[in-house]
Amino acid sequence: MSEPHVIIAGGGIGGLATALTLHQIGVPFTVFESVRELAPLGVGINIQPNAVRELGDLGIGPDQLDTVGIPAREWALVGLNGNDVYSEPRGLLAGYNWPQYAVHRGRMHMLLHRTLVERAGPDAVKLGHRVTGYEKNTDGTVTALIQRADGTSLREKATLLIAADGIHSAVRATMHPDQPPIHWGGAIMWRGTTLARPIRSGSSFVGLGTHRHRVVFYPISHPDPETGLAMINWIAEVTVDKAGGRNPTGWFRPVEIEEFAHHFDGWTYDWLDVPDLLRRSDVSYENPMIDRDPVSTWHDGPVVLMGDAAHAMYPTGSNGASQAIMDARHLGAAMLEHGVTQAALAAFDAKFCGPVSQLVLRNRGAGPFGLLNIVDERCGGTFDNIDDVVPPAERNEFMAKYKAAAGFAIDQLNHAPPTLAPGARVSMTVAA
Ligand SMILES: Cc1cc2nc3c(=O)[nH]c(=O)nc-3n(C[C@H](O)[C@H](O)[C@H](O)COP(=O)(O)OP(=O)(O)OC[C@H]3O[C@@H](n4cnc5c(N)ncnc54)[C@H](O)[C@@H]3O)c2cc1C
Repeated sequence: MSEPHVIIAGGGIGGLATALTLHQIGVPFTVFESVRELAPLGVGINIQPNAVRELGDLGIGPDQLDTVGIPAREWALVGLNGNDVYSEPRGLLAGYNWPQYAVHRGRMHMLLHRTLVERAGPDAVKLGHRVTGYEKNTDGTVTALIQRADGTSLREKATLLIAADGIHSAVRATMHPDQPPIHWGGAIMWRGTTLARPIRSGSSFVGLGTHRHRVVFYPISHPDPETGLAMINWIAEVTVDKAGGRNPTGWFRPVEIEEFAHHFDGWTYDWLDVPDLLRRSDVSYENPMIDRDPVSTWHDGPVVLMGDAAHAMYPTGSNGASQAIMDARHLGAAMLEHGVTQAALAAFDAKFCGPVSQLVLRNRGAGPFGLLNIVDERCGGTFDNIDDVVPPAERNEFMAKYKAAAGFAIDQLNHAPPTLAPGARVSMTVAA
């Protein structure tokens, strides 16, 4: 090959953030995405301040994020009796130099795709192209094996292959053929959106209930100025006996509210009516809480895993999409340092595979919702004053540890230099 070229397998949030980053630093690339047509799928996700900063550095600032979501102002845990367990400000109010955004996953995805096509042209993303695996070549390059939607196949040679093909990654399966199947701990989430009036700060993430039986909800749009109603993302969750014979691999099976709403009968407070929120939903999907056991490496010569392909995690820490965006930027930074080379992928893997794999396991252990476990263990979830159950210093220490491990430390982020120096371009060395 005369000029380096990178193949990105998968055009989700991670793949498109990688493509935008490579475009920014002058690395030629092509995204191969399996679906024939991109659609605004999914419901709510959070983009943490570290990832919002990176989007800003990619030229996608608050003016655009406000069209797909809303800055988050508060994160709160509430016991089953409706009393506060813990709350803290989020984003700018917490002292970050960048906001946290609660966004509609599908609209955010479409925004990234639109932006990429505007900048790099329509050929940057090839839809209807599923990457089924790869072969490493003796000259150090890689050949991606691709199946087109019309049934024909294609072998595409590249300098590097970046796998952003999600939790069911075919590239990961090629790299780690003996990996165990998807891991499911028995929690089932039902997700949906309902038009309702935002509560508390007007943009609060609220986790209500216990670790094994809870609802989480937060607005993912600004309220309509006339009606005051916003799109509220909700997740209703119960942990079931795994022997129940459910299939834990499906993403987003559409379901009727009646199938699960009974789990939340009686969850009515003077500030919230959960059954009403669920019953007035526009959409609802069943979605088992799944992840993957970490692997020893994300790197195999000219191939690397990123995003959910590398570290699919429970959404308890609201950082799956943020982590995918950070991966994209860290891969860009590694290429600025090492060129479009295997050494760049090795450096990315050496720095992040270990710590992020730890985060996967930490989220499996309940993540920040672990505080609800402590409350449950100590008083069965019933209390008048939370200070008598978990003193404030213990609550704050618990959350600080989680946030430091997840890379949310405020001072560290505020004082960190940009991940990619403004205007930096990669030197075009062909892989050794
Ligand atoms: C349809 C959908 C809806 C989702 N909705 C939510 C949600 O509501 N809330 C939430 O917290 N998380 C949701 N997620 C997950 C969330 O988007 C990710 O955890 C996070 O954004 C990390 O993204 P990713 O790009 O690594 O993986 P993904 O978002 O999974 O993107 C992977 C992309 O690769 C494509 N792909 C898969 N296999 C191949 C292949 N072999 N070859 C080429 N392309 C391939 C997929 O079509 C997809 O576009 C959703 C994911 C998907 C795919």
